[in-house]
Amino acid sequence: MPSIAIHPSLDNGFKATDAAFSGGTLVCNCASNPVKVRVKGDIAHNHVCGCTKCWKPDGAVFSVVAVAPTENVEVLENGDKLVVVDPAALIQRHACKDCGVHMYGPVERDHAFKGLSFVHPERFQETGWAKPGFAAFVSSIIESGYDPAKMNGVRDRLRDLGIEPYDCLNPDLMDFIATWTAKKSGALPS
Ligand SMILES: [Zn+2]
Ligand SMILES: [Zn+2]
Repeated sequence: MPSIAIHPSLDNGFKATDAAFSGGTLVCNCASNPVKVRVKGDIAHNHVCGCTKCWKPDGAVFSVVAVAPTENVEVLENGDKLVVVDPAALIQRHACKDCGVHMYGPVERDHAFKGLSFVHPERFQETGWAKPGFAAFVSSIIESGYDPAKMNGVRDRLRDLGIEPYDCLNPDLMDFIATWTAKKSGALPS
């Protein structure tokens, strides 16, 4: 039975995570003068995402996306090729204007995620980054044209991969955002 495609890094067997992974260099898809972005230290909350905003490689149904502290993210080379995809968005996704790969997306606005940057670990030239731990915004793949009748198969496939599907973020991150909001409003002590 042909398997349901999720993302190339998962469909053909995920390369083992290395507990010692401590960051590396993200490289865009340009054959010449690629944009290079260094991430110091490990990434966190790696997950697959079905939203329509995250960058995905050709043919992928989901993106693979994680966060790192923005202070640990540094553009090394060809930063003049970076453009912000949507300046109005919470995540300021910086894409290579030549190949379209999103290189990093800082959150600068007042928000629970302020100070974090979203990155796509598959662009690391190094291996060993953490396997995606959950799937976010799964139902949103329908917005990209995915057949709604196949969604149960998608969720089954994600669970087979050990990736629990959610239609927003996972409970850890939803609780984190709600806690931030409650402290801001005074409903919880800050
Ligand atoms: Zn590029
Ligand atoms: Zn997304």
